[in-house]
Amino acid sequence: MTVRTRFAPSPTGVLHLGSVRTALFCWLYARHNGGEYILRIEDTDRERSTPENVDAILDGMAWLEMEADEGPFFQTQRFDRYQEVIDQWLAEGKAYHCYCTKEELAELRAGQMERGEKTRYDGRCRDRTDVREGVEPVVRFKNPLDGEVVIEDMVRGTVVFQNTELDDLIIARSDGTPTYNFTVIIDDCDMRITHVIRGDDHLNNTPKQMNMLAALGAGVPAYAHLPMILGPDGAKLSKRHGAVDIRDYREQGYLPEAMLNYLVRLGWSHGDQEIFSVEEMVEYFDIADVNQSASSFNPEKLLWINQQHIIAAPAEKLGEALRPYLKKMGLDPMQGPSLADVANVYRERAETLVEMAEGARYCFEDFSEIDAKAAKKNLRPVVLEPLQAVRDAFKALNSWDVAAIDEAIHSVAAAYEINLGKLGQPLRVAVTGGAVSPPIDSTVWLVGKERTIQRLDHALELVKIRAAIS
Ligand code: GLU
Repeated sequence: MTVRTRFAPSPTGVLHLGSVRTALFCWLYARHNGGEYILRIEDTDRERSTPENVDAILDGMAWLEMEADEGPFFQTQRFDRYQEVIDQWLAEGKAYHCYCTKEELAELRAGQMERGEKTRYDGRCRDRTDVREGVEPVVRFKNPLDGEVVIEDMVRGTVVFQNTELDDLIIARSDGTPTYNFTVIIDDCDMRITHVIRGDDHLNNTPKQMNMLAALGAGVPAYAHLPMILGPDGAKLSKRHGAVDIRDYREQGYLPEAMLNYLVRLGWSHGDQEIFSVEEMVEYFDIADVNQSASSFNPEKLLWINQQHIIAAPAEKLGEALRPYLKKMGLDPMQGPSLADVANVYRERAETLVEMAEGARYCFEDFSEIDAKAAKKNLRPVVLEPLQAVRDAFKALNSWDVAAIDEAIHSVAAAYEINLGKLGQPLRVAVTGGAVSPPIDSTVWLVGKERTIQRLDHALELVKIRAAIS
């Protein structure tokens, strides 16, 4: 049997971290088992589904590199198929038209509440043969009246529902559109889904879906209901806990593999390992290791994991990941050092790609002004000569590498008998325009020979002006 999982988001809102975690578990389970992962957009709620939300899902999945083996399928393109089953079930007596009006249903509900009963549809239209003129009926599924539904959930264990607790659910609204629980089972059946992995907010839907799958004559997939993700305060993770839209994390400079690493640990563990490459996740992932209890979202841990992935990423890949952030800041990534070099120099110094891009701005953009405070403190007349000497030493270098740059700085400092910091900091201010950067040799190397000389000339002009004034 080929494992086939599906991620079935409804495009009624942003792509939420919780949904991404569900998608990830589906994807990993399929990959781990050499199976197939299917993407299905559940867009039957036409009022709340938007093309923007569909794009956000597709875009998010592409960014996270969770490629689907099949899909995206769209439920709105499958209405004929749903209608076919509805007609068939009506003909076979597995479903029926219900003409109850809102008022009748409200009255039924009120009576049940008064008697302290569970509110549910009582099946009064089940055996009705007449057609009520002027009322567009809904279609209800004839749920079994007795017996029980047993779910052998891969995460939750055995969960039993009594059929007496379930009612005859609506499978088509009065306007003819099919409803969620119904479309899901048709699709899960047609798409030959073997494992339904989803949030445990769907656990209550499962017995209804299992009964309908039986009516369809289809087998039942394995189910795995994932525990909730909570915010730091113990409530279900939502907007009020901060960003929950996966796009926000991309914007803030998180690496896709770090997001996956963080999300996989929300509910799953492999010994006490914290950092996983995507390959390791695929290799180790198993539903048997999914916890039953809810896990909490911890933004500091996510940041830490991001940094670990930044440190470990191959330079070329990290450099490429940096490119869009530089562009977004209005910088031209072509007007500067290779992005792999920037990545290598900055990987230990940035927790996010945004931080990296901001830190390395001076490598891509000539600044017209030096930070006033840094200039005042560091570009003083005493550094005129050593700075001039280091400029000349750089100019004379045949090979622009960190070791040669380092040596030039050392020899100038030695010649002027000043300690390295006394030369390094003015140099830093001159070539970066500010007081903070990676080690000075690497900084100068990144800035490049031509720019370094130009910037030193500019700084020397400033120092000369100051020397003339004082
Ligand atoms: N479309 C449903 C949702 O977004 C998921 C359905 C399912 O996984 O069965 O919550």
